[in-house]
Amino acid sequence: MRNSVNIGVLGIQGDIEENISCTKFAMKRARRRGEIKVVRYSEDIENLDGLIIPGGESTVMSSLISVQEKVFQSIKRRISEGMSVMGICAGMILLSRKANDRVIGKTKQNFLSALDIAVERNAFGRQNDSFETYLNVPLIGKGKIKAIFIRAPIVTEIGIGVDVIAKFNEKIVAVKQNNIVATSFHPELVDDRFHTLFIKGISKI
Ligand code: GLN
Repeated sequence: MRNSVNIGVLGIQGDIEENISCTKFAMKRARRRGEIKVVRYSEDIENLDGLIIPGGESTVMSSLISVQEKVFQSIKRRISEGMSVMGICAGMILLSRKANDRVIGKTKQNFLSALDIAVERNAFGRQNDSFETYLNVPLIGKGKIKAIFIRAPIVTEIGIGVDVIAKFNEKIVAVKQNNIVATSFHPELVDDRFHTLFIKGISKI
């Protein structure tokens, strides 16, 4: 088991700072030492043991990443080599195979296609753009977990090998597939247990 780990937070867009501080807590909880840094270029991705893709706006993120096609390719390759990844909201969308937008239908955007899921973007529509709720997530512990949804997607299709780890009103809102964890909601704002799950996954490399 590796003690010291290199974690990157993709610094293209979204709530980067919150993810850094949440990861610090998660490292303590998981009893791991290591570095956490903001990454933007393909060279930065090469030495990572784990990458967090924060929430934001997935269309913007995918077009910014596409300008730097090499970053996309490096992330994809490193995931297939076993790097752990956590995708939050827009990050979940980027990791997926395909997405449909509830409001505008099909969108032109690139996907990493690393996680065998299809998603519906902005699935809770306008009046429920953002809300808080409590979810059961047995994989990360007993008791309900506060979940903040901000213009969130839901998972509409899952492939073999994808585990559903949380649902809200029968809709899939968190999944795990080998070294990938993805949530529709924003754990970095309230709870470090998802980040801890992600950090603990790294020991399997
Ligand atoms: N609605 C955004 C999208 O579709 C995601 C919002 C978020 O990451 N909080 O990309």
